[in-house]
Amino acid sequence: MKRIYMDYAATTPTHPDVVKAMKPYFADMFGNPSSIHSFGRESKEAIEQARDKVANLVGARNEEIVFTSGGTEADNFAIKGVADANKKKGSHIITSAIEHHAVIEPCKFLETQGFKVTYLPVDEYGMVNPCDVRKAITDKTILISIMHANNEIGTIEPIEEIGKIASEKGIYFHTDAVQTAGHIPINLKELPVDLLSMSAHKLYGPKGVGALYIRKGVRMISFMHGGDQEHRRRASTENVPGIVGFGKAAEIAKSEVEEERKRLTVLRDKLIKNILQIENTRLNGHPSLRLPNNVNVSVEFIEGESMLLNLDLMGIAGSTGSACTSSALEPSHVLLALGLSPEVAHASLRLTLGSETTAGDVDYVLEVLPGIVKKLRLMSPLYKKK
Ligand SMILES: *Cc1c(COP(=O)(O)O)cnc(C)c1O
Repeated sequence: MKRIYMDYAATTPTHPDVVKAMKPYFADMFGNPSSIHSFGRESKEAIEQARDKVANLVGARNEEIVFTSGGTEADNFAIKGVADANKKKGSHIITSAIEHHAVIEPCKFLETQGFKVTYLPVDEYGMVNPCDVRKAITDKTILISIMHANNEIGTIEPIEEIGKIASEKGIYFHTDAVQTAGHIPINLKELPVDLLSMSAHKLYGPKGVGALYIRKGVRMISFMHGGDQEHRRRASTENVPGIVGFGKAAEIAKSEVEEERKRLTVLRDKLIKNILQIENTRLNGHPSLRLPNNVNVSVEFIEGESMLLNLDLMGIAGSTGSACTSSALEPSHVLLALGLSPEVAHASLRLTLGSETTAGDVDYVLEVLPGIVKKLRLMSPLYKKK
C-alpha cells in the first residue's frame, strides 16, 4: 500500500543531501572540536560553517547562534536563561495560552520559583492581540515569549508588532520559530526579536539538534555549565554530525523556501476547501495568516483518534489535538484556547504537508476522508442525537 505522510509538523524526513553531509563526521572526521590538532580543527571548521548557514537562514550574525540539543532546549534556555540573569530587575514574564509545551512548562516551573507569568488569551483564530501584550506589561516584566507560528493550528502571530512593543519598553522578546524557520522567510536584521528558537528536525535536518539565536547584548546565564564550548553559553562536546546536518538543511531550506511555500499553499488550500465541503466541519486557526503546510479541521461528532486510525488503515498519517488514549482526557490546550468545546476539540484532525507531498496525495486524502467520516458518524452516538 502507498503510504502518505502528512505529519510534517511533528517531524520531517532528513533530506538525502543532509544525510550525505553528515556521514563523514561520524567516523573519518571524528575529532573533538576543542582539540588543537588537525582532527579537532576539521570538526571545529565544520561547526563554524554550519553556524554561518543557520545564521544566514534567519538573517543573524554567526556569533549570535548557539547550538542546542533541539527546539525544547532552545526554548528552555531562552526562558530560564533570561529569567535567571534578570531577576534583580523583575520577575514577570508574558507568554500566550497556545505556546508549545517547551515554553509553557519552563514558565510553569518558574512560577514555582517566585516568578509571575501572564498567559495571554487568543482570539477565535488563535491570534495574540499586541494590545493585550502592551496592557499586560508591568514595571517588573523582563521577558515576553510569543511563538512565531503555532504547531497545531498554523496561525502566524504578529511578532513584529509584539517585538516593537517589547523593544520600546526595553523588555526582552523571545519567539519560538521552530515551525517557521525554513518554512517562511525570517530576517532578524529587520525583526525586533532578541531570542529565537529553531529545531533541525522540523526543517529536514536530523533530530536532537537545534539552535537559539541570542541577539548581541542580551543578558543570559549559560544553559549548561562545564567546558568552554559555544562561547561558554552551552557546555558539552558539540554534536558535530548533527550540527553539520542542521547547517546543510538550513542551506537547502534557504534556497527553496519561497518556491516551496507557494507550492504547499496551493495544496493546503485545496485540502481545506474540499474538507470543509463535508457538513459540520470547521477550520481551526486563521484562514490566511497560517503556515503554508498546515491544515487543521474539526469534523464534528467524531473522535480525532478514530479518524486517525481509519486514515492510517488507508496509509495516511496525520495527527489530532485529541488525546483520549494517552492518559490525559484533556484535549489540546491550543484548541481549547480558541474557545472550542472539548467535543469539537476532540474532533480535530491535523494534516501537515511537506517536501514529499504531491497533488495526487491530496486527491487521495480527499477521496478517502468523506467515506471515513460518513462511516464514523453512523457509529457515533453524538451524531444520532443531533
Ligand atoms: C517541535 C517543536 C518544539 C520542540 O522541538 P524539539 O526539537 O522536538 O525539542 C518546540 N516548539 C514548537 C513550536 C515545535 O513545533
